[in-house]
Amino acid sequence: MRPLIEPRPFRPYHQRDLDKIPQFQKLSPERRLAVRAVASVLPFRVNAYVVDELIDWDRVPDDPMFQLTFPQPDMLEPDDLERMVALIARDAPQAEIAAAARAIQGRLNPHPAGQRDLNVPRLDGMTLPGMQHKYRETVLFFPQQGQTCHSYCTYCFRWAQFVGLEELKFASSQAEMLVEYLRRHPCVTDVLFTGGDPLVMRTEVLARYVEPLLAPELEHVSHIRLGTKAPAYWPHRFVTDRDADDLLRLFERVVAAGRHLAVMAHFSHPVELSTPAAEEAIRRIRSTGAEVRCQAPLIRHVNDDPRAWAEMWRRQVRLGAIPYYFFVERDTGPKRYFEVPLARGLEIYQQAYRQVSGLCRTVRGPSMSATPGKVQVVGTTFLGSQEVFVLRFLQARDPAWVNRLFFAKMDRRASWLDDLRPFGAPEFFFERRMRELKAGARSPAMWAGEAEVA
Ligand SMILES: *Cc1c(COP(=O)(O)O)cnc(C)c1O
Repeated sequence: MRPLIEPRPFRPYHQRDLDKIPQFQKLSPERRLAVRAVASVLPFRVNAYVVDELIDWDRVPDDPMFQLTFPQPDMLEPDDLERMVALIARDAPQAEIAAAARAIQGRLNPHPAGQRDLNVPRLDGMTLPGMQHKYRETVLFFPQQGQTCHSYCTYCFRWAQFVGLEELKFASSQAEMLVEYLRRHPCVTDVLFTGGDPLVMRTEVLARYVEPLLAPELEHVSHIRLGTKAPAYWPHRFVTDRDADDLLRLFERVVAAGRHLAVMAHFSHPVELSTPAAEEAIRRIRSTGAEVRCQAPLIRHVNDDPRAWAEMWRRQVRLGAIPYYFFVERDTGPKRYFEVPLARGLEIYQQAYRQVSGLCRTVRGPSMSATPGKVQVVGTTFLGSQEVFVLRFLQARDPAWVNRLFFAKMDRRASWLDDLRPFGAPEFFFERRMRELKAGARSPAMWAGEAEVA
């Protein structure tokens, strides 16, 4: 018999609500002050489900879900932390706290990998700010009402969206422009709704974006993906929320229209898959004919342990979900806190991969979403006496690069593509072309449709 999942009201907590979280009172006064200080700089939001069912408060502060959702003192530089703690401790005026926070935020790097210019498509000479088109087959769409999440991850590279830096926000309420863009780009097979989290939207709002894609003239859009953390942070979205059933009916309509619907679920730790509500959410999504594919970055303090990944992949497959991507955390925000060097990331991945059966090995990684494309660290080997990383493009700005192998000199401290040096050549094979693309400020992905318009 299936467990009965009690409805839960969605109750979010922000920085100003920290004292309303009963478990938070268990922390030491110093830790509470530090959390309050860091949460005034970096985005903070949790909800009662995360607090009650995912965090093991007996293991705080080391608990992985606490690390994933609560700001930690070492996420700020020591002098920044000191300044913020002093302001909070003396109960400084809100404006003073906000100004100090903004100065720190300005030094962090919220939009890496050329997102702000290279990937923004155009229609009739107008830029479409709520969209990105980097890889030929796939358009990313950021629905305006989906620019928040049920709970924030402390490492999130989209954090600028949550802290009110308006000019950095990608957003669009322009479903019509999306449709027009897709009509002119028959090469696009995939639309990926992202955010924030598109599933913070009410079903009727989401439907306004999704249903136009089911029109016969957009038959070439055969895959619709929803990138979401809701199965982990708010599974009630699919189970007991007032419009949960409507959401499942929407999924069924997508499937009935002959399209593939993929819920790209962000699971960071096996505990997120262990609650009855999470299991029921996955079961219900799959009952509509949609698939659940799982992805997450490797994060120090959260999941930098091969056992966590192996256990997570096994649970995913057992529940009928498909392991998909194992990402390397990108170079943004309080990255050093979360950083795992590529060599160590590869070890964690290999050790996890070797523990699981072939059904779990649909996962691909470690993968860096870098400016030229998604670069997988395939392994290490020796070329003569030189140890090298073997790399390949899983996805590339120029489709001709996909699946090409290339080599970089071994560097145990490197944590991103930019840290790596090519082996046996003055530069990586893609660098010259990459300079040309940057000069044109466009991805080849967008060219086809523009030619038609011109
Ligand atoms: C990862 C990603 C995609 C999807 O790539 P797939 O390999 O098809 O899953 C699309 N666009 C961007 C910008 C991405 O980072």
